[in-house]
Amino acid sequence: MKMYHKSAIDHPIFKILGEAADELHLEAYVIGGFVRDYFLNRDTPKDIDIVAVGSGIDLARKVAVLLKGNPEITLFKNFGTAMIKHKGLELEFVGARKESYQKDSRKPIVEDGTLEDDQNRRDFTINALAIGLNQKNYGKLLDPFNGLLDLERKIIRTPLRPSITYSDDPLRMMRAIRFAAQLEFEIALGSLQAIMENKERIKIVSKERIVVEINKILMTKKPSIGLALLHKTRLLSFIFPELTALQGIEEMEGQRHKDNFWHTLEVVDNIAKTTDNLWLRWAALLHDIGKAPTKKFHKKNGWTFHGHEFVGSKMVYRLFKRLKMPLNDKMKFVQKMVLLSSRPIILSEKHVTDSAVRRLVFDAGDHVEDLMTLCEADITTKNPKKQKRYLNNFKLVRQKIQEVEERDRIRNFQPPVTGELIMKTFNLKPSKEIGIIKEAIKEAILEGEIPNEYDAAYQFMLNKGNDLGLSVKEP
Ligand code: ATP
Ligand code: MG
Repeated sequence: MKMYHKSAIDHPIFKILGEAADELHLEAYVIGGFVRDYFLNRDTPKDIDIVAVGSGIDLARKVAVLLKGNPEITLFKNFGTAMIKHKGLELEFVGARKESYQKDSRKPIVEDGTLEDDQNRRDFTINALAIGLNQKNYGKLLDPFNGLLDLERKIIRTPLRPSITYSDDPLRMMRAIRFAAQLEFEIALGSLQAIMENKERIKIVSKERIVVEINKILMTKKPSIGLALLHKTRLLSFIFPELTALQGIEEMEGQRHKDNFWHTLEVVDNIAKTTDNLWLRWAALLHDIGKAPTKKFHKKNGWTFHGHEFVGSKMVYRLFKRLKMPLNDKMKFVQKMVLLSSRPIILSEKHVTDSAVRRLVFDAGDHVEDLMTLCEADITTKNPKKQKRYLNNFKLVRQKIQEVEERDRIRNFQPPVTGELIMKTFNLKPSKEIGIIKEAIKEAILEGEIPNEYDAAYQFMLNKGNDLGLSVKEP
């Protein structure tokens, strides 16, 4: 094993860091994610963690002086940390520290420490690798816990006893699973057991921090790895009880339904292959959550989940709120996807009519392509014939959407005849008749009775007004 890894710190910034440290007579190391990702040949991150044995803030100030171009420096005196932004890099400085924890908080009591103390407080052996920056040890790897070997063996392991590491800061349970998912590593057995034992302590972690890790899991190549680990460790029931409730297969009178939890994981993996849109991935994760509360067994029809899309879309709001996620357009998008998630399937099972496609475009608006992507990912049948048929049907639906779009411009529908014109034509004050006529025009267009054009809509309005006993105002 090579001890010196100068190429890891090729970038000229590291020379300056070393110079600054030598001038202040303190030791400095680059540590954590940057070193790990260098050895993994991943794109090395833009955030670089520097630990100083002494004051991290002093080191940052010195570096700022040595760097040309007046870099932006931010000091967090309460935490004893500092950050410098320089040419797209974010340098984070911290003094080496020793940490001790209390039962009810994941915020440690901190005191100054040695490099060794600082490596001990790190979450995983692969995140505790440090490389020397001072002239005397420039490029020297300090790896007290065999992190390099764990990188080779693809193992997530804690430097100290796992039960203590996870109990001290339960966020590390989420981080272990997230790294296992991102790097496609195994979690060491001792760690897995400790996570299971400490799962309830996830309650002291803020929702925001949990969501950060969930988002990272959802953005991995194969999100089911992380989601299955959440399930295996039983953390899932604290974060997403709605998903836990989907697990299991019931049988009644010889009829079984599919396991909607494992189905959901397949759908998320499928969609991860076709989109990097985080919110579409969220929609895949939540698209079936309404199935647990709506599940029923009917003697004649077997298992049904009537209205699960509507119930599910309501649950999305409560879930986002509970996890303190912003209740904004993204949330509404996820709700909409869940609400409409069965529509293309129903549509493609029958003859694909123009009017059904127009209604779909009307309801989904600009998100109709995303909805199709979700529905394609939802095909998890193992029967190749069925799979082919479903995919073909969706292809047809997509084609039809295009055709109908070009002809009828239903997306972001604007009524060709306005409420004002209706009022003027029949000399009406604001009244329910206006709404009735407007709705009738929209329906006629969606049904294909009239084209989405002014002349046709105007004539239709006159007829409809006549039906309602309204007379046209004389000029
Ligand atoms: P990424 O930036 O991809 O999330 P990272 O390893 O750089 O990965 P950061 O959150 O940036 O993760 O943290 C930087 C380093 O700080 C980690 O490598 C690890 O050594 C340490 N660290 C971060 N969070 C914790 C924690 N909760 N407990 C212990 N050490 C931690
Ligand atoms: Mg980082």
